[in-house]
Amino acid sequence: AVRMRGVRKAFGDNVVLDDLDLDVEPGERVVIIGPSGSGKTTILRVCMTLERPDDGTVQVGDRQLYHDERGGQLRPAGEKHIRSVRSDIGMVFQHFNLFPHMSALENIMLAPVKVHGRSKDEARERAMALLDKVGLAHAANQTPGQLSGGQKQRVAIARSLATEPAVMLFDEVTSALDPELVGEVLNVLRDIAEEGSTTMMLVTHEMGFASEVADRVVMFDQGRILESGPPSQVLRDPQEQRTKDFLGAVF
Ligand code: ATP
Repeated sequence: AVRMRGVRKAFGDNVVLDDLDLDVEPGERVVIIGPSGSGKTTILRVCMTLERPDDGTVQVGDRQLYHDERGGQLRPAGEKHIRSVRSDIGMVFQHFNLFPHMSALENIMLAPVKVHGRSKDEARERAMALLDKVGLAHAANQTPGQLSGGQKQRVAIARSLATEPAVMLFDEVTSALDPELVGEVLNVLRDIAEEGSTTMMLVTHEMGFASEVADRVVMFDQGRILESGPPSQVLRDPQEQRTKDFLGAVF
């Protein structure tokens, strides 16, 4: 579902992705771990067309996200293309980015109606089902200001599922939450993972959660994949000293 080849991204002298190759198979759940600043968020942003790589290719589903133009500079492949790519990929951020003046229900209905041309009735019905799924049917008419951080994040997850994306990207979705609210959000992610149909890439520091839901853990360091494998291998029996040091620091 995701195929990255030779992806390079630098901010000035800071090489954040260094000739990265990464594949995520349809239905696979890949958890990306690694030290702060190692480039994990940038991987997701490149897949979401929020960050343009300097070099390499990124394919999501059967779409090529960037064109190599004259002069070798990569450009996003057109506005319309980008809009359709973004509606095919769901991304949930650390901060929820909900529209503050809209109710939970309206936040979830927005993209299906505006981008996918669904009828309001159809979008409302699906939004209600999603709110129910994240345990917030009772909060449909509340605005983000009336919700807790954990509730806002659950609405954000429901919203990103509303367009039935082929790939879901989760960027440290619990790290801005008070500790007592982390569990309710992880439970929702666990449910999505257990359904098994959604391809998921998750950046998280929650190692217990990672070992439960990941088919594969990718340890990322200094713009490169240091090691990659099932949680039983990377989290419990890491081969690289830097992985051991990192896990020693977070556990
Ligand atoms: P964390 O776990 O702290 O979120 P990360 O592994 O997700 O870190 P990134 O957010 O991908 O790391 O950032 C990698 C590096 O790129 C950092 O050094 C960061 O300062 C730098 N960086 C990211 N975005 C930009 C930007 N828009 N402009 C300049 N530098 C950036």
